[in-house]
Amino acid sequence: MGVTSVELGNTGTLAYPSRIKLPCTWHVGKTGSRFYKELKDSCQIWGTKCPQCELVYVPPKATCPRCFSDIKEWVKVGTAGTLLTYTEVNYAVPGIQPQKPPYFLGIIKLDGASTGFVHMLGEVNMTEIKVGMRMQAEFREKREGTYLDIKYFRPAKP
Ligand SMILES: [Zn+2]
Repeated sequence: MGVTSVELGNTGTLAYPSRIKLPCTWHVGKTGSRFYKELKDSCQIWGTKCPQCELVYVPPKATCPRCFSDIKEWVKVGTAGTLLTYTEVNYAVPGIQPQKPPYFLGIIKLDGASTGFVHMLGEVNMTEIKVGMRMQAEFREKREGTYLDIKYFRPAKP
């Protein structure tokens, strides 16, 4: 078994690079729970609207990160929006990618939202993808109440 150690600067000590895989459970809270249930049960995307700044956050937030107000108002936003930016992912990173590269990631400003929504893009290629293009959420047939209940955003049909 070959393990390579590395010097830790000028500390005179060694470190062994390693990986730990741990099962974990994230509690998404009341706000996250409603967001994911709406994706799963109704293929709808909901955000929350700050009473002070009137920004609509998607994914929703219980507290405004800008003015720290409690947010109670829910707003249904569109399942379509405008592509703000994108990148093509070409490198595999163990454990954290939703699919095998290459694929596109984008930030979409959904209709009615104030913030960008990060997700995968599909049915696009490098020659046709453009900032400003209209994108539409494509939901999976079998949904489980996760972010990936949206399969990807594809170009909206006119
Ligand atoms: Zn606010």
